[in-house]
Amino acid sequence: MSDVLSSSARPAVVTTISELRAAVAAARRRGATVGLVPTMGALHAGHASLIQAAHQECDFTVVSIFVNPTQFGPQEDFTRYPRTFDADRALVAEVGADLIFVPAVEAMYPAGFSTYVEPPAVAATLEGQSRPGHFRGVATVVLKLLNQVRPDIAYFGRKDFQQCAVVRRMVRDLDLDVRIVICPTVREADGLALSSRNRYLSADARRQALVLSRSLRLAAELVDAGERDANTILVRMREVIATAPEVRLEYVALVDPDTLAEVSEVSRPTAALLAARVGGTRLIDNELLGSWFEAVSTP
Ligand code: AMP
Repeated sequence: MSDVLSSSARPAVVTTISELRAAVAAARRRGATVGLVPTMGALHAGHASLIQAAHQECDFTVVSIFVNPTQFGPQEDFTRYPRTFDADRALVAEVGADLIFVPAVEAMYPAGFSTYVEPPAVAATLEGQSRPGHFRGVATVVLKLLNQVRPDIAYFGRKDFQQCAVVRRMVRDLDLDVRIVICPTVREADGLALSSRNRYLSADARRQALVLSRSLRLAAELVDAGERDANTILVRMREVIATAPEVRLEYVALVDPDTLAEVSEVSRPTAALLAARVGGTRLIDNELLGSWFEAVSTP
C-alpha cells in the first residue's frame, strides 16, 4: 500500500503532483474539507500555529514544504536556506496534519517552465523594492500550490504582512475559489518574531535584533497614548533601532494595511512594517497599530 493511502503513516509524505492530487481526491471523496499551509520548511512554532489552525478547521490538512527558488534573488540565501525535513515531519505529525507535499524543484519548475504571475500593485513597495522579483516568485508558487491542492482554505502568517496583502489581492483579482486565513505572528517570550532565519543569528546578533520588536511595540504604545503623527512615531522607532550597532535598518514605514500606501497620520488601523539586516541575516517584522480604531468607529 502506498504511503498516501496508509492511515498508520500520518502524515503521509508525497513528492509528486499526481500523488498529491490522488491523496486530496481521496479525501474529497470521503467528504473532507481541505486546508493548505504553504511553507518553506525549517518549521517552528509560527508554522505550527498555522498548521494547528488548519487542522482545527479542516478535515484534511496539507502542509507543503518547498524552498521556492523563484522568490530568491541571485545574491540571496536560497542554497543555504535551512532544510530540516526530519524535524519538520516530526513537528507536522505532532500538530496533526494529514499530508506533507515536498516536491523537488524539477517537479514545480520542469524544463520549459516559463509562465509567471505578475504580482499586484501592493507588491511594488517595501519588500518588493528591496527584493526585486520576490513577489513574482511568491505569487507564482502560491498560485501553483492552490491549483495543485485546490484547498477550501489556505493559511498564511501575518509575520509576512506584505505577502498576505499580495496573496489576498491575487485571490480576488484572479477569482480563485479559496478562503485565505491570516494567523497572528508568533513571537519568542522576549518579542523576537519566530523565523526560519533566526537560526543564522549569533547570540549577540539575536540580542541586538530585539530592537526591532521593541520599536514596533513602542509604536503601538505611542498610538495607544494618542500620538497620531506618523513622522514622530517613525523618528522614535528609528531611535530605538539605532541603539543596536549591528542592526542596519532597510526600511520602516507606517502604511494602510490594505493598500500599503504610506500614511502621514494614524487615524485608523495602520501597519508598521520594517526590514533590517542583523549581522548577515535579513529580518522582517510588523505590528498593527491602533486596531481598536475599528472597534471605536463601529456603532
Ligand atoms: P515560510 O516557511 O517562511 O515561507 O513561512 C510559511 C508561512 O508561515 C507563511 O505564511 C509565514 O507568514 C508563516 N510564518 C512564518 N513565521 C511566522 C510566525 N512567527 N508567526 C506566524 N506565522 C509565521
